[in-house]
Amino acid sequence: MFCPFCRHPDTRVVDSRVTDDGTAIRRRRACPSCGRRFTTTETAALSVVKRSGVVEPFSRAKVIAGVRKACQGRPVDDDALARLAQRVEDELRATGCSEVSSQDVGLAVLGPLRELDDVAYLRFASVYRGFESLEDFEAEIALQRAERALRSTDDATANASRDQTSPAGVTSAGTPATQMEARR
Ligand SMILES: [Zn+2]
Repeated sequence: MFCPFCRHPDTRVVDSRVTDDGTAIRRRRACPSCGRRFTTTETAALSVVKRSGVVEPFSRAKVIAGVRKACQGRPVDDDALARLAQRVEDELRATGCSEVSSQDVGLAVLGPLRELDDVAYLRFASVYRGFESLEDFEAEIALQRAERALRSTDDATANASRDQTSPAGVTSAGTPATQMEARR
């Protein structure tokens, strides 16, 4: 590649290392012409195709900006948003596709956002899925209620079996509520 300082058409790699999380390679390069050094990062390509057909690199910052709007006034902090964006990126990269649609990105947001905050989730889903009426909201809320009921039944069952096998007597009372609090 060109030297970014003097545009010399060739540079030399002087050091190469994998980042701690293993998702990128950093190369330290030196320009044989001007002698200056710079760093390049090599990552697997992940592009987002927007509805307009425009292709742009996936950006966690853009995911965070979109979700942050839905989280206005809700108890969701920046760390939680950063973790959510990381999960979205991980999920999209796990598909193995180098190009995803903005719809795919929205879809990947829904799961983690639902765990984070019910209201923010509904706001985001209403835009992403294009809710047009009260009935759309009602249907989504009914679905969420049903799934939550199913989850708490699962939790109760899991706790019950844990109690049976645990001589230490793990208490299960209020556990689902405590877990919900801990997530926030
Ligand atoms: Zn140079």
